Amino acid sequence: MDLLKEKIAQEGKVLSDTVLKVDSFLNHQIDPLLMREIGEEFANRFKDEVITKILTIESSGIAPATMLGLTIGAEVVFARKKKSLTLSGNLYTSQVYSFTKQETNEISVSKDFLSPDDNVLIIDDFLANGEAVKGLLDIAKQAGCKIVGVGIVIEKGFQNGGKVLREQGIRVESLAIIKSLKNNTIEFAE
Ligand code: 5GP
Repeated sequence: MDLLKEKIAQEGKVLSDTVLKVDSFLNHQIDPLLMREIGEEFANRFKDEVITKILTIESSGIAPATMLGLTIGAEVVFARKKKSLTLSGNLYTSQVYSFTKQETNEISVSKDFLSPDDNVLIIDDFLANGEAVKGLLDIAKQAGCKIVGVGIVIEKGFQNGGKVLREQGIRVESLAIIKSLKNNTIEFAE
């Protein structure tokens, strides 16, 4: 997606050989016009599929997932990382190791919002080693949902999450794939 790649090239900051900071439009401040385009691009890529629920994880997956939900008219469920007082019992849970925070979080989704009738598309901001997506897949499977695929805003192609998921036969659509962050340079895959 050219608009997204241009934005990453202009505003992305390489923090290390493995971490890209995109706080100005995705992870802290949000660019709603770009997010709308992202939602439409996901809708277009998965237009041949019936999607009844979009599943993401707080917090940075919520904006792109919601824009997709708005485009296709499907509800968005986000897994929570911290248990809230209003979220007790009746939960699907999974363990997710966070690449950026280097800690394991238990993520949870209320059983009220996923059912075996749902065709679920998973959305997230970044794909690195695939831990967050694996946790979301685990939750969707516990709920007996059909998995339509995975939509990612930025995939870091030099980490193995995308490869592992695709080898499992899961359809992964990434709007921008980064080949390398070495030498403080953002290089995109073709
Ligand atoms: P994974 O679970 O695939 O290893 O990592 C994906 C998750 O970690 C995403 O939900 C995202 O929040 C975070 N993440 C991984 N790599 C990066 C990165 O380079 N930059 C930012 N901003 N977040 C990342």
